[in-house]
Amino acid sequence: MATSKTSKKPAPLSQYEAKRDFARTPEPRANVRKGTGRAVRFVVQKHRATRLHYDFRLEADGVLKSWAVPKGPSLDPADKRLAMQVEDHPLDYRDFEGIIPEDNYGAGEVIVWDKGTYRLAEGVDAAVEIAAGKIKFILTGKKLTGMFTLVKMRGRNQTENAWLLIKDKDSGVDLSWRAEDHAESVKSGRTLEDVAKNPRARKWSSNRPASGESKER
Ligand code: MN
Repeated sequence: MATSKTSKKPAPLSQYEAKRDFARTPEPRANVRKGTGRAVRFVVQKHRATRLHYDFRLEADGVLKSWAVPKGPSLDPADKRLAMQVEDHPLDYRDFEGIIPEDNYGAGEVIVWDKGTYRLAEGVDAAVEIAAGKIKFILTGKKLTGMFTLVKMRGRNQTENAWLLIKDKDSGVDLSWRAEDHAESVKSGRTLEDVAKNPRARKWSSNRPASGESKER
C-alpha cells in the first residue's frame, strides 16, 4: 500500500511552541532531547495561572509528557485526582521556576514543587504506556515516593484529555499528608508567594553574589 510522505503526527512540541512567544516569556524554547542511559526524570511544578494547579510531568520520548492536576497529588489511594493532559513540554522545562509575564500563555508564578526520577512498574516504554491510556510508575522524589498510576478516563461524557492520578498502596501511603502543607520549591526553597514578590531572589543561602536584583531579606 502506498503511504503518504507527510506524517499525520504533529512535530514534537509543536503545540508547546505555538502557545508561546519566546521573546516575551522566560520559559525554555522547544527542544527535543533523545538519549540513552539517562535516568528518566519527573517533575511537578506548582503553577498559579488563572487557577492554581500542579503540573505533573514524566520524561518520555525525549520530552516531558504533562498533566495539570488542579488539586495536586495525594498520598491516599482513595483520592482519585483529576489530571488533564496538556501539551508536551521540553525536558529543559523541568528546571523552570519564575514568572510567566502577563498576557502570555499560562501567565503566573511557577515553582519546582518536586523532582526526581521514576521507573515503570509495568511495561518497558513510558511513551507506549501513555499512548495506551495507563501508566504505572514508581517515583523517587523529595516529596513524592512510591507507586502511582495515571489512567485515562473512559466513557462518553469524558473529554479526551481527562486522566486520573492515583496513589497505589505501598509504604509511601500517608493519609494525613496534604500537598498544600508542602508549599516550598525543592529547587530554591521558595513558595509561589516568594516568587511573586521577587522573581530572582533565592531563599536558600548561596555563596554566589546576587546578580542584578537585590537579594530577598
Ligand atoms: Mn501549568
